[in-house]
Amino acid sequence: MTKREIDWSRFAAELDGIRILLNGNQVRAKSKDFFWYSPILNEQLKDCVGDLVVMPRTEAEVIRVAAAVARWRVPLTIRGAGTGNYGQCVPLAGGVILDTTELNQVLAIRPGSVRVQTGARIAKVLEAVQEQGQELLMFPSTLRIATIGGFIAGGSLGVGSIRNGALKDAGNVTAIRVVTVEPEPRIIELLGADIQKVHHAYGTNGIITELELCIKPAFDWQHNIMLFDHYTDALRFCKAASTPELDLFLLTSVDRNFAPYYEELLGEHFPADRDAVFAMVAPQSLTAYRQLALAHGGRESLCMSATELEQQELPPAYECAYNHTTLHAIKVDKQRTYLQYAMPSPLDPDLCQRFAEHFGDEVYWHHEFARQSDAYQCFGIPLVRFSTAERLYEVMAYLEQNGCAIFDPHVVTIEDGGIKEIDDLQIEFKKLADPYGLLNPGKTRGWDQSMARQN
Ligand SMILES: Cc1cc2nc3c(=O)[nH]c(=O)nc-3n(C[C@H](O)[C@H](O)[C@H](O)COP(=O)(O)OP(=O)(O)OC[C@H]3O[C@@H](n4cnc5c(N)ncnc54)[C@H](O)[C@@H]3O)c2cc1C
Repeated sequence: MTKREIDWSRFAAELDGIRILLNGNQVRAKSKDFFWYSPILNEQLKDCVGDLVVMPRTEAEVIRVAAAVARWRVPLTIRGAGTGNYGQCVPLAGGVILDTTELNQVLAIRPGSVRVQTGARIAKVLEAVQEQGQELLMFPSTLRIATIGGFIAGGSLGVGSIRNGALKDAGNVTAIRVVTVEPEPRIIELLGADIQKVHHAYGTNGIITELELCIKPAFDWQHNIMLFDHYTDALRFCKAASTPELDLFLLTSVDRNFAPYYEELLGEHFPADRDAVFAMVAPQSLTAYRQLALAHGGRESLCMSATELEQQELPPAYECAYNHTTLHAIKVDKQRTYLQYAMPSPLDPDLCQRFAEHFGDEVYWHHEFARQSDAYQCFGIPLVRFSTAERLYEVMAYLEQNGCAIFDPHVVTIEDGGIKEIDDLQIEFKKLADPYGLLNPGKTRGWDQSMARQN
């Protein structure tokens, strides 16, 4: 989509009464996410900026914005908290940024389900359901700032996925309500399997306003660190611990190269001469978890509830996992970037050892253990010393040749990043919900502007 000259003050005047930001610095800040993890995306996206930010407080205000955008035929990029890693909410073609963070109410909590507005911070939703003895099935490690709508539209799995699977697994997200982008916007409520039409579509096919999620009875998860003499022992342990007989909410392994990045946070709990496994363990599984770790050469260096950790000013285990691991590292070592891939199943720790020998110091190893479609799966999120884009793609090619499935975090489209194929269901829904192709242009290869409605 090419940029047109638009009289933005006239556009803003049409939205009188809705909070709007036109100040350059504010708009620039709201045009960014965590794409800077990738030196490639950083180069590509650092100058992309929207023209104005709207912050609706009600669904009725969202509808007014959607109608104005459709009448003016201007691009609209939806933004939650902007913690996505692939420039997911960066406006490639300028235009309007719709910030959802003021649409943030927890609407209803029932046994087994919660209904929320899209812009609610995940931590706020978690606290609300915990007050009623329940908990979310999964969340990203960014839950303190990320919005629930941003997770459903941009995320895939996270903390909790070893117990409850991925977001897309049946029953985890039960309803999504979207506003269409047309001169007279409609509201569509997607239920059950139909949520796949919008889940992980990067906000390209409808503005989510409300969501309904499955919740379960809460546990006082024990945050645990086990140390190992060899990274392959840590992996063998994680493989053995990936069983329904142990009730876990998180299982993460990182090699000893990560210890210096965690020094300030964890001190002696993660010394530089050991490899570590971070976990959240249900109280009734703790004895069996400890016995299994011991049998694999593990030594416990920490085990505390969330409350105890807070009192000791220690981080929760989930802030030592998923992409928080990368965050801690990049803060210290600006030369490093990261990759994402799935290991071939069943996991072969010796294959990981061969990778480690092949790459030496160039790659530091981090694995996440999760369930997807009821099968246990090991995902790699290694840190790579960045030299050139060509070299980074050689590393990816090597992993792929050895059976790994790559989810490239250095690209902006949904298809290039993960699913590889165009999701026809999502594109068909886009024709209904975004008939002029105005939502987050450039983020799906499945849309061609020739598909846009002409009138
Ligand atoms: C340190 C770190 C750790 C992370 N860990 C994880 C993890 O464990 N698992 C994981 O999946 N991700 C993870 N992420 C990525 C990201 O934090 C999560 O996906 C997060 O939930 C995104 O929420 P957000 O509010 O920041 O969304 P944003 O980044 O603002 O948006 C994400 C996408 O959703 C779209 N979107 C937002 N709101 C709506 C809406 N109302 N309607 C339609 N589309 C919308 C946006 O257009 C964008 O394409 C991590 C990122 C970082 C930096």
